Amino acid sequence: MSEGPVYSIVAPVYNEVDSLRPFYAQVKAALAGTGESWELLIVNDGSSDGSHEEIEALAAADGRVRAIHFARNFGHQIAVTAGIDYARGRAVILIDADLQDPPAVIPRLIEKWKAGYDVVYAIRAERRGESLLKRLSAKIFYRLIHRITDINIPLDTGDFRLMDARVAQVLRQMREHHRFIRGMTSWVGFKQTGIDYVREERRWGETKYPLRKMIAFALDAVTSFSFFPLQIMIYISFTLAIASLLVGLVISILRLALGEEFFGGQATTIVLLLLLSSFQLFFLFVLGQYVARSYDESRDRPLYVVASTVGLPGAQVSNQRLGGIGAPQALMARADYQEQERAGDGE
Ligand code: UDP
Ligand code: MG
Repeated sequence: MSEGPVYSIVAPVYNEVDSLRPFYAQVKAALAGTGESWELLIVNDGSSDGSHEEIEALAAADGRVRAIHFARNFGHQIAVTAGIDYARGRAVILIDADLQDPPAVIPRLIEKWKAGYDVVYAIRAERRGESLLKRLSAKIFYRLIHRITDINIPLDTGDFRLMDARVAQVLRQMREHHRFIRGMTSWVGFKQTGIDYVREERRWGETKYPLRKMIAFALDAVTSFSFFPLQIMIYISFTLAIASLLVGLVISILRLALGEEFFGGQATTIVLLLLLSSFQLFFLFVLGQYVARSYDESRDRPLYVVASTVGLPGAQVSNQRLGGIGAPQALMARADYQEQERAGDGE
């Protein structure tokens, strides 16, 4: 680990063939000013558009570019995870490869790190070229997450951030399958701060986050960091119970006063029945979201499968399951961690 670079830039790539070259050029330009060493870890998340060849070419031309090719598409958050696992830098920087997060912002992240912060996240002060639906849903999403979770997840931040090696080390030990990395970094703690930036328009290719994936992502975020959806059930159940008592009372009084035929209608019964079953099904769904996730966690499959790497040690090792841990760095991290635990036992 000692001979690692100062900065590890982690970029997930899923079919970004056109932006790869300009992205690499901009990263190189942004880091040239620091005068320090760096590596660019490109995680190819099962691309099928020629990104693979393009990454190989970049890695062949510049030894600082390293590639991790997945065996298939595992998803954005998992690709970022693999990048963190393999990173050897004293600081790890997560950035999208589609140039929506401008590499020119990186020196500003570094500046804060040098001032002593362990996590520096980039806040999207403005989002360019995104549909009203995306901007609105993102606004609501970040605020909702902020409200219902116990940890302090900053508003309007994506995964674009810098983290110190010690934060990355903790993340390597968090092997959950449904990952919300921005929440996980907040969870770690230490000194965190943010800087503002303008999120650029996507110039090449298209977003890999259609509505369906955004909903799945939001569900992962909520279930990973909050039990609020499970807890509100008790309030709804109390409310309904009290309402039913009151309604029962009112109906009884009306019937006593006005005769048997009051509120005898079948229609009312049917409507109420449908309403209540829809409530129940909805909460079964909510419950199911938690149950399915805990099933996924207990099955504990490897988070990703690496097909090949360039410029990195041990592609085969990364598939090995050692308590569900992936890459070599992570294997080492786990060994260190267990040693610490053993040391702790003696006390
Ligand atoms: N990405 C990935 N795997 C996926 C989807 C996306 O590695 O399954 C990458 C993608 O290539 C990009 C980054 O993750 O570099 C962010 O994705 P995208 O730009 O589609 O998301 P958006 O910016 O629209 O939220
Ligand atoms: Mg994007």
